[in-house]
Amino acid sequence: MMKTHTRFETSAIHDGYDPADLLGSLATPLFQTSTFTFETAEQGERRFAGEENGYMYSRLGNPTVTVLEEKMAALEKGERGLAFASGMAAVSAILVALTKANDHIVCSSGLYGCTFGLINMMQDKYNIDHDFSTMETKASVRALIRPETTCIYVETPINPTMKLIDLKMVAEVAHEHDIPVVVDNTFASPYLQRPLELGCDVVVHSATKYIGGHGDVIAGVAVGKKDFLDEVQMTTLKDMGGIMSPLDAWLLIRGLKTLPLRVDRHCDNAEKVYDQLRKHPNVSRVLYPNDSNHPDYHIRQKQMKRGGGLLSFEINGTKKDAQKMLNHLRLIKIAVSLGDAETLIQHPATMTHAVVPEASRLEMGITDQLIRLSVGLEEWEDIWQDLEQALDQL
Ligand SMILES: *Cc1c(COP(=O)(O)O)cnc(C)c1O
Repeated sequence: MMKTHTRFETSAIHDGYDPADLLGSLATPLFQTSTFTFETAEQGERRFAGEENGYMYSRLGNPTVTVLEEKMAALEKGERGLAFASGMAAVSAILVALTKANDHIVCSSGLYGCTFGLINMMQDKYNIDHDFSTMETKASVRALIRPETTCIYVETPINPTMKLIDLKMVAEVAHEHDIPVVVDNTFASPYLQRPLELGCDVVVHSATKYIGGHGDVIAGVAVGKKDFLDEVQMTTLKDMGGIMSPLDAWLLIRGLKTLPLRVDRHCDNAEKVYDQLRKHPNVSRVLYPNDSNHPDYHIRQKQMKRGGGLLSFEINGTKKDAQKMLNHLRLIKIAVSLGDAETLIQHPATMTHAVVPEASRLEMGITDQLIRLSVGLEEWEDIWQDLEQALDQL
């Protein structure tokens, strides 16, 4: 059995892999292979029958991918991790595993654009209904639960409005009804927030973001109970096929080693940029859950180590002004995605949330004036100078 460590920083580096297992190689070897040979036909039979442990074919498991899955399970404090080709492959595999035709899902109001698209497709194709809730109180969640509710799906911090949901509270209500709670933990990363420790059942990640951290991989991960994820592996992962490639797992293993360092620096920079943005005359509102005036600050204190590296702000002006501001930036790159070394900026109404109908978008708080910033690892004064000169031109 692999040694695991209790402290997050040490786990991120050491858990999931022991060099002694593989010729002393310090870095996890990259098993870039599609299949695995059997010594005999009988060994092949035993492996497929599940009577003998061992690899068979990389869609059913790969040693490099296994290391990443074990590391993520250790960091999220779950029994098992499961790796996917993208965050959406993880989200879709988990949601399809938890529902059948005519079931019902309760979701946080405010969802990643493609997750919103997915639940609408599930409604059209399989009559799987959904309701949105701001989940401010136990009663507001309880009121939406029906006999056919099989999943509560929560994003917190919510993209891109940075509203927070009290995960322990939601888990308590869900468990009165034996309904699993799935949390998209992409924005916080396990360094800042661990939903399983708060009583939730499954965590999903777009590992494309903070887990990878270098803007060079699209990948997803889920962590939760072993029985459930074993079942997902044999159904909506293996049979639908959205597996992670060994090379992507290798890059994520490398990324995870510096996750705590990177996320602390993202938070330091975000706090500094937040303080400056608030004072700028062309900025009407800054959304960052780390200020004691933020309506969800008490939730931030309860369940997140720090405020995170993302913030959103509204400018005084129109959609055209928002676009103009983006066009004036020099250092900061206009791009969707987040959690990279580079500071990235995007306009949710026309980019990440363009698929959401206008009425729903406005209900989620995504106005034409709203801009989302993923604060990078550069020197914060350079980030601020660039923002300031662009805002000054409005
Ligand atoms: C990016 C993202 C996803 C989707 O992940 P992909 O890796 O792009 O498929 C899901 N949820 C959140 C919150 C995200 O930011």
